[in-house]
Amino acid sequence: MSNISKLLFTPTDHEQDFPANLLIEGLRTLAWLGEAFPNGPANSFLIGTDFFKYITFLGCAPAMQLEPPREGDLNFCFIHINTGLPKPLFRGHEARFVPRCPECRLGLSDWQTELADWQADHQATFSCPHCAASLTVPQVNWREKAALGRCFIEVYSVYPHEGIPTPAFLSHLSRISGVEWKYFYEPA
Ligand SMILES: [Zn+2]
Repeated sequence: MSNISKLLFTPTDHEQDFPANLLIEGLRTLAWLGEAFPNGPANSFLIGTDFFKYITFLGCAPAMQLEPPREGDLNFCFIHINTGLPKPLFRGHEARFVPRCPECRLGLSDWQTELADWQADHQATFSCPHCAASLTVPQVNWREKAALGRCFIEVYSVYPHEGIPTPAFLSHLSRISGVEWKYFYEPA
């Protein structure tokens, strides 16, 4: 799906979408977004001067590439505001993880089958094999591994769990948009 690791944000309501400009203006005011990056996907930006105030990088500070290494190379740290998807898209890890039942918190190992059923029919429900709760795919606890959404803020070139947003950043996102957001990671 993806050849560059990313940190992503999406509203907790998977149907929620926003005009890109609303997010761009709010995040620019915060200095989280910087200059436009015209060689990236539409609505791409370099990081702003206060980016590192809101995203904490763990371990020894990674030698992050903050400028495009060469023309056409997208493997560096920039931000893509990706809104207006016609229907909710599944993003994140596609294998080697087990999401949890939101009721009993046990693992839902057949999630790929349930996801395929839901993609074919958004009314599809299934029963938790552990507690028998009736669930829909958007109710699943995808942890920080995946999410469904029509609107994503994508930070390129962040390895899973390497960069973690501060609670203050999630509060600002919620203030800018009026809804709650979650974050997760998409591996390369
Ligand atoms: Zn359960």
